[in-house]
Amino acid sequence: MSFPPIRPELAGIEPYGAPQLPIDRVPVQLNVNENPYGPSEECIADIAAAAADAARTLNRYPDREFVALRTALASYLSRDVAGEITPDQVWAANGSNEVMLQLLQAFGGPGRTALSFAPTYSMYPEYARDTHTRWVAGRREDDFSLDLDVARDLVKTEQPGVILLPSPNNPTGTALPPDAIGVLCEAAGDGLVVVDEAYGEFRRAGVPSALELLPTYRNLVVTRTMSKAFAGAGLRLGYLAADPAICDAIRVVRLPYHLSAVTQAVALAALGHAPELLSKVDELRAERDALVDWLRSESYDIADSDANFVLFGRFADRHAVWQGLLDRGVLIRETGPDGWLRVSVGTPDEMAAFRAALIEVTQSDVNGERA
Ligand SMILES: *Cc1c(COP(=O)(O)O)cnc(C)c1O
Repeated sequence: MSFPPIRPELAGIEPYGAPQLPIDRVPVQLNVNENPYGPSEECIADIAAAAADAARTLNRYPDREFVALRTALASYLSRDVAGEITPDQVWAANGSNEVMLQLLQAFGGPGRTALSFAPTYSMYPEYARDTHTRWVAGRREDDFSLDLDVARDLVKTEQPGVILLPSPNNPTGTALPPDAIGVLCEAAGDGLVVVDEAYGEFRRAGVPSALELLPTYRNLVVTRTMSKAFAGAGLRLGYLAADPAICDAIRVVRLPYHLSAVTQAVALAALGHAPELLSKVDELRAERDALVDWLRSESYDIADSDANFVLFGRFADRHAVWQGLLDRGVLIRETGPDGWLRVSVGTPDEMAAFRAALIEVTQSDVNGERA
């Protein structure tokens, strides 16, 4: 065996992650779906004060059950639904990635299956691998929607312990209709259906949240994050809403005191500024719709987006286009099905820079050749 003696199935695997390049070298960064707008001075001051308060008791372990934060998250979510979401229905961790890993630790594992429909979020198979859960990927149709009969049959055949459904989906931006979620919750039996709403706040008018379905399906889990619409990617705070018994079960696998006192305090302070932090969401949605229209007018293939990014193509050599944009100071993401590229929605200036660079790249050489 070679050194270090890593598990054989992990040997030689590159760690997940988009390139992180210095902002002074690449001024326009549209690759990881961050909110381009930072907090106000007032919000920064509140966060600093909350962190200072937490610092006074750093000799003590934090509240393991983070009751204050769960209460604040529950009331934040309750604004989005007709009924009420209670603190015992809420769980949180360091990013929704950790929430979903914990779900797989508790509800996946050897002899169990996790299922999603490709193209889907590229971290899901990694949670499955890391928890020794069997991974099955069904497929989406050419327009990235789900054929519900095919999806239902696959669920009945595979009987997954966990189904992972990003909605809006990353990398395609497509939201799932509520009847699709209902059909899959019923087909799953006692298996969990996790609707990953990392981009939920960006959905177009009239597209409902899966939170509305929580009272109907006890096996439904809805995950959210402060990383995207909430402009808190650096905070590392993700959360879920589900039946209290599901939250209870996760407590068995979480590490002791997994949410630091500083994280809890800063997240609480940021939630106190929710209206401000979310105030750019409408602008970003409008900017997204304008981007979709512009790309269509340039004859690109494009998936309808309910998120803060757009998948567009198709290129004969997408890597050359990605590189050409990077050479012009615009970083986007080479991801999704072959031939497609994904661009996050930034400020109006950043989008102007992206459009100008894309026109240059596709007109100056053969890079822009469409597939
Ligand atoms: C960005 C993203 C998340 C959020 O990850 P965090 O760990 O909360 O930062 C979750 N799911 C999908 C599909 C995403 O694209």
